[in-house]
Amino acid sequence: MSFRPKKRLGQHFLIDQNVIRKIVDAVAAPPQARVVEIGPGMGALTGLLLERHPNLTVVEVDEEAVAHLREQFPDLDIRHEDVLGVDWSAFSGDHKGHPYGDSGAYVVGNLPYYITSPILFGLLDARRHIRRAVLMTQKEVAQRIVAEPGSKAYGILSVQTQLLARPRMLFSVSRHVFRPKPDVESAVISLDFDMTGEVSFDVTQMRRVVRTAFGQRRKMLRKSLSGLCAELHTSIPDEFATRRPEALSPEEFVKLTNTLFKVDL
Ligand code: SAM
Repeated sequence: MSFRPKKRLGQHFLIDQNVIRKIVDAVAAPPQARVVEIGPGMGALTGLLLERHPNLTVVEVDEEAVAHLREQFPDLDIRHEDVLGVDWSAFSGDHKGHPYGDSGAYVVGNLPYYITSPILFGLLDARRHIRRAVLMTQKEVAQRIVAEPGSKAYGILSVQTQLLARPRMLFSVSRHVFRPKPDVESAVISLDFDMTGEVSFDVTQMRRVVRTAFGQRRKMLRKSLSGLCAELHTSIPDEFATRRPEALSPEEFVKLTNTLFKVDL
């Protein structure tokens, strides 16, 4: 059928069956699990996902793609909406026991790259309702998500994701397996939310400290956090004062946050 991909919606369709199978394999959900696909487009992943997971829902914003999907998969639960407005809690099923039980949705998608960060932060905020996410992103973004302290790629995205999920780099994907070809290389990551339902810090406070510190990446924390410290009527602990943000592990950011905001551990 004639379909003109829409650049503004980040439409780059997968055409390689091997890559498609590897992404669907990585979901690794039990057959009855609720699986949600973000941005199914023309259904490259959808057919195989549906074969394995009858409890599949797809969320697609493009009306033309939705019409195509309805024709191709008449019985599929197709939501014509913006993924950024999705209430993930509605998909989590029985919450009882999660993060240690069997509930929580599995999310999968070859993401529209122009909204990777808001999608990612939305999933992190919904971590209690999600068990695992398998996401294709720009390779550079994937590298930032899994980066270790001290590396060039380590920053806001690494600390926040690593504190709220267990991210893993699964494999790289060449730009030649898409139509149209994107300008960048891609990679598939997984995020597991099995251990991270409860956290020992306030997420908003942590985000504030991490963003402020990395806002002046080259400066020592004594300097970059001086405004925040003044506002909180506190001073930076000696152990952090002369360090730069990229030297702190995610757990040290938690310690720093809880100290600055005087949260009892
Ligand atoms: N899954 C298909 C594939 O792998 O061939 C398409 C992937 S394409 C990179 C991204 C898809 O996300 C497109 O179908 C696009 O229309 C859809 N999309 C873009 N913005 C969206 C949004 N805000 N909410 C839901 N879907 C969106």
